[in-house]
Amino acid sequence: MLDKRDWYATGLEHIWLPYAQMKTAPSPLPVVRTEGTRLYLSDGRELVDGIASWWTACHGYNHSHIREAVQRQLETMPHVMFGGLVHEQPLTLARRLAEILPGDLSRVFFTDSGSVSVEVAMKMAIQYWLNAGQGARSQFVCFRGGYHGDTLATMAISDFETGIHQKFASLLHSHVIAALPEDDATESALASLLERHAESLAGIVVEPSVQAAGGMRFHDPEVLRRLRRLADRFDLLLIFDEIFTGFGRTGAMFACESAGVTPDIVMLSKALTGGTLPLAATVATSRIFDAFWSDDPMQALMHGPTYMANALACAAANASLDLFADGERLAQVESIGRWLAEGLASCRGLSGVTDVRVRGAIGVVELERIDDLNTLRRAFVEKGAFIRPIGNVIYLAPALTIGEEDVAFLTGAIGNVLKERAAN
Ligand code: PLP
Repeated sequence: MLDKRDWYATGLEHIWLPYAQMKTAPSPLPVVRTEGTRLYLSDGRELVDGIASWWTACHGYNHSHIREAVQRQLETMPHVMFGGLVHEQPLTLARRLAEILPGDLSRVFFTDSGSVSVEVAMKMAIQYWLNAGQGARSQFVCFRGGYHGDTLATMAISDFETGIHQKFASLLHSHVIAALPEDDATESALASLLERHAESLAGIVVEPSVQAAGGMRFHDPEVLRRLRRLADRFDLLLIFDEIFTGFGRTGAMFACESAGVTPDIVMLSKALTGGTLPLAATVATSRIFDAFWSDDPMQALMHGPTYMANALACAAANASLDLFADGERLAQVESIGRWLAEGLASCRGLSGVTDVRVRGAIGVVELERIDDLNTLRRAFVEKGAFIRPIGNVIYLAPALTIGEEDVAFLTGAIGNVLKERAAN
């Protein structure tokens, strides 16, 4: 086997890392193995993972049930194109998603990343109106603090406070950015906005319950009910981006369930395959699907990623759904929420801390500001924890299988690092 020097040093100079100024970014950590909630580094160190690989590894790393399903699928058929051909895993997965999603969210379009699934939802919504003879409706209402991806169309509906999307402004379609309707006043402000823009709007796009990458901000289920009412009143499609919240993260299988609201389109990814393989799904109600049902080929949805409905990824997703079937994961989320709340409580009142909050298996410590993210990230690694603060928040979104001791280890690391930071 190659040792660290061989692949690390010789490969690193050819790699372009995500969200990194390559000149000044700290050296990335070389991981050689994962298991459960652990990352094993090439120098023998072991880290407790607080964020489960961008919130994907919901059953912990290397779950044997998923591994065996992918291995079996690899033996018979790793991949076959989805144009003109279908196969068992994606069809089974589509049926199962339709069964567990609320309402008649029943038509599944597979893609291979969250951003692309959002773009597909946007195309579905715009063409829904086009097919209905209302071609002027191509804008979306989206929200302050929202994040929906890094591609051009998804950047345009995200709210980057740092202004990083300004560079691409000339390529970004303009949309209507609003405040979430958290009370009667903001609901009526949003209603006025919708009234003004009604003719150009296709739909409303929101991350239900938690705005994730924009700062792990939580909102009340009532916000989603207000949005449903407004969407119905102004005849707009309601689109939920459950890429972060889906599959138990907030305590329900899908965040929309806690509000009792069914969107017209929902996007899923991240934990869909239990963190094993890339896969995303855009799921529409029959109302949306029916608008494409026509003898006219021009009314079809023209989209088809090469690797859509990949058999290995769909096998992983089916196996992941098996692991949710007995309800145990959701019970675990409840315990994790309790442990997070207990463990993070001591951060309240520490210098620079402005808020501590927990929802489902998400724990957040918000700071006035974080001037040096890299120093903070390094400090966590030195304590044996992999935690990556974003913006001004330190957060935990671990595997839903994490035990009490590991949660205490992670929350302890946050408390200790913040105390040391305050002392310096
Ligand atoms: N939507 C939400 C809510 C997300 O959290 C993310 C990723 O963090 C995306 C969309 C984009 O997904 P991907 O990175 O797979 O393109």
